[in-house]
Amino acid sequence: MPLILRVDATRWREHLRRYVAAHPQVVPVVKGNGYGLGRRRLAAEVATLGLPTLAVGSYEELGDVGDAFAGDLLVLTPWRPSAGGSAPVVDDPRVIHTVSRLEDMRDLAGSGARVVLEVLTSVHRHGIAPDRLGEAVGHLDGVSFEGWALHLPLAGDRHGEAQRLVRALPDAGRTATPVWASHLDAAGAARLAETTATPVRLRVGTALWLGDRGALQVKASVLDVHRLRRGEPYGYRQRRSRTASTLLVVSGGTAHGVGLEAPSAAGTARQRALALSRGGLAASGRTLSPFTVGGRRAWFAEPPHMQCSLLRLPASVEPPAVGDEVDVEVRFTTTLFDRIDLTGPDGERS
Ligand SMILES: *Cc1c(COP(=O)(O)O)cnc(C)c1O
Repeated sequence: MPLILRVDATRWREHLRRYVAAHPQVVPVVKGNGYGLGRRRLAAEVATLGLPTLAVGSYEELGDVGDAFAGDLLVLTPWRPSAGGSAPVVDDPRVIHTVSRLEDMRDLAGSGARVVLEVLTSVHRHGIAPDRLGEAVGHLDGVSFEGWALHLPLAGDRHGEAQRLVRALPDAGRTATPVWASHLDAAGAARLAETTATPVRLRVGTALWLGDRGALQVKASVLDVHRLRRGEPYGYRQRRSRTASTLLVVSGGTAHGVGLEAPSAAGTARQRALALSRGGLAASGRTLSPFTVGGRRAWFAEPPHMQCSLLRLPASVEPPAVGDEVDVEVRFTTTLFDRIDLTGPDGERS
């Protein structure tokens, strides 16, 4: 019995439609594990939404996404002459390349490739420094220049930064060259478009696909229930239960991404205190699991196994029955579900 993602298809698609209506310039991002939902499924939804372009994370993702969606494909990872040993195809008319270094722009000049030039922002991930963009523009002969890319931080005055960067862009010899921006909100994007007379395309993943969490339910199944006597050993590590308790075996383990947390930056004092207390719990052999049983988070009995997890409940808690479902909190971008069910009259259609 698997780890299941149940999608209320009508509600989810209603959110997608509303989001696109409010952000007609959206460029949906379809990358990684497809935000938990799968890249192919998301690509098919973009086709249904009638949008002209989507963004993939990497060249490796072009294949399956390109099969499910017939429009243009922006690659977010910058083009490099020998990424992974072979130069990515430059002559596919559906593919828009992101170029983030002057030498790459020189290599691509004359190739006919469709390109956006990435501007280095305060994120400092990829991009050409703003004061070298004029040089980059000098190499646009023989390519199809499709605009500028801006990858903005999630914190700080990103709207102000976007305004400053866009105002300082060199003249690329084209009117109304679009800016492909990430992490601007709708109002900020509209203001940017208006005050700089620049079309703004918003590259969005999380807020689109996972924007209505109420449409998404994650369920694990109870696979087994065992009573443990006081002092009885259990698990791979043969720990002993100091009191009588219940061992619950539920679906969801490391292969699904359960129990693996993406490192989070402990920014505030409260977050650091929380991390410390979590470390303390781990040191004492107790870690809170992401599974909710009987209305409360259950403790891991030991680190998760590959496809299931062992939880320990106090004897005072009435355990669920084998076959019951329990809620699990997951991070969608790191979770691999066994099954994704789209429910409702509007369910599986793609
Ligand atoms: C992943 C990514 C996005 C989408 O980010 P969300 O926070 O999921 O909306 C946008 N732009 C770039 C460059 C990305 O790598």
